[in-house]
Formats: sequence, C-alpha cells, structure tokens
Amino acid sequence: MRLEGKRILVSAAANGIGRGSALACAAAGAEVLAVDISESGLSSLAAENPAIATYVLDVMDRAAIEALAAAAGRLDGLFNCAGFVHHGTILEVTEQDWAFSFDLNVTSMYRMIQAFLPGMLERAAETGSASILNMASMASSIKGFPNRTLYGASKAAVIGLTKGVAADFVRRGIRCNALCPGTVDTPSLRGRIAAAADPVQAEKGFVARQPIGRLATVDDITPLVVYLLSDESRFVTGQAVLVDGGVTI
Ligand code: NAD
Repeated sequence: MRLEGKRILVSAAANGIGRGSALACAAAGAEVLAVDISESGLSSLAAENPAIATYVLDVMDRAAIEALAAAAGRLDGLFNCAGFVHHGTILEVTEQDWAFSFDLNVTSMYRMIQAFLPGMLERAAETGSASILNMASMASSIKGFPNRTLYGASKAAVIGLTKGVAADFVRRGIRCNALCPGTVDTPSLRGRIAAAADPVQAEKGFVARQPIGRLATVDDITPLVVYLLSDESRFVTGQAVLVDGGVTI
C-alpha cells in the first residue's frame, strides 16, 4: 500500500499507460480520480475497478479544468499523462498540427498544474509532500527518431516545464518529475502501426529500436509511476526518468 492515504488524479486514464497507472495507483492504496475525454473508456475503467472515481475532462479546456479543481479538492499526486504523437518531418508539420500538439502535450500540463498546485501546496504543508508527474517521452526529446520532430519538441518542452516547477517549489514539499518511456504497447501505438504502409514491418521497426528486444507493456511502466507518486521517491525531483528498454544505453 505504497500510496495509502493519497488522493491522485490521472489524466488520459481511459486507455494505455494512463489507465494502467490509475489501476496501479488504486492497487497501491490511493484514492484515484481518473479523467479522460472518452466517456466509454472511463465507464469500462470504473467497471474494472469501482473504487476509481471517473470524470470526463478535456485537458485542453481551461474552464473545465478549473471547475474540476474547485470541485475535486486537494490532491497529493497529479499525473499529467495525456499526449498525442504527430508523424512526419518538419516539412509536413502545419501550423495547426504544431498548435494542437503543443496544446495537448504541453499547454494542458501548464493548465492542470496551475489549477491543482495551490491545493497540492496546502496538502504538502500538512503532510510534507506532494508529487507531480508529467508524461514526456524518450522518443525525440532525449534521442532523435525520424518523423518525430513535433512530438519531440513538445515532449522536450514537458521536461523544461517539469524542471521549472520542480525548482520553484522544491522548498515547499512539491516534487515534479517527467517520465520518459520507450515504445509501449498501447491502443495509440497499435493505431500508429495500423496506419503504416506496412504494419508488420512497422511493428518490427518499433521492436528493433529497443535493445531489450520487445515493446514495453503498460505494466513495465506503471511501477515507476507508483514510485514517483509515492514518498519512496521523496529525494527525486526535476528529473526526466527513462524507462526505455535500453534505447539510451
Ligand atoms: P492511448 O491512446 O493508449 O491513451 C490515450 C488516452 O488519452 C485516451 O484514453 C484518450 O481518450 C485520452 N485523451 C486524448 N486527448 C485527451 C484530452 N484532450 N483530454 C483528456 N484525455 C485525452 O495513449 P498511450 O500510448 O498510453 O499514451 C499516453 C501518454 O504516454 C501520451 O502522453 C504519450 O505521448 C506518452 N507516451 C506513449 C508512449 C507509447 O509508446 N505508447 C511512449 C512514450 C510516451
């Protein structure tokens, strides 16, 4: 029960890494608030674990975020997981693509942290700690890959945002870290594979770039999420934490 007594919000919680994280945090004893834009995905999550509270939230909607922050009360943990993978070189990135990826991948985290941090500061003043975890990525923010310029630029910005928040609030009990996974088998990855000209070859390519020899599963990632949201990581802040199957050895 590494998260017993903690209230944790997870975004993008209906599928993939966010869903696995919501379930893992609940299994570790946290009171979990799972948010996503997918109402059906949240319903299936609530059916899988009725102890998890769910709420439909678009993390690009400031007013909705502020309303939720006012209603939900104070958090001990905030996992900003929502993000989108744009495919293409810089020559194929439109102004709209750029704006959308930065809005969903970076600006959403600015909004969420701005809305929830005041309550987290109050909690930290009482308990000594509160933890923010932002989903970055290994891909193209740490190590460059083809067709990931926009994705990498947005995820590198997440790391900068993370370090700034960590530096500003390190003396007030707030820790803020970024998670940088390698390639993880999730619905969005399956969509990218299916959209490739040769899906079999595309999957082989994703596996081949991970020296450990396979895709990550969500369960390879969630132990680190639980750790970074728990007090076990109490001396860890401002870090871009890699879990990448050896890509960056
Ligand atoms: P996924 O597609 O499996 O799940 C994404 C979820 O985000 C969906 O439930 C979707 O409804 C939700 N979502 C989308 N837009 C939203 C919005 N505006 N507001 C709230 N929720 C929204 O995705 P995943 O592969 O688990 O990726 C989750 C995060 O992990 C992303 O930030 C992604 O960039 C990052 N990541 C993924 C991988 C990977 O290989 N899968 C690797 C590194 C980092």
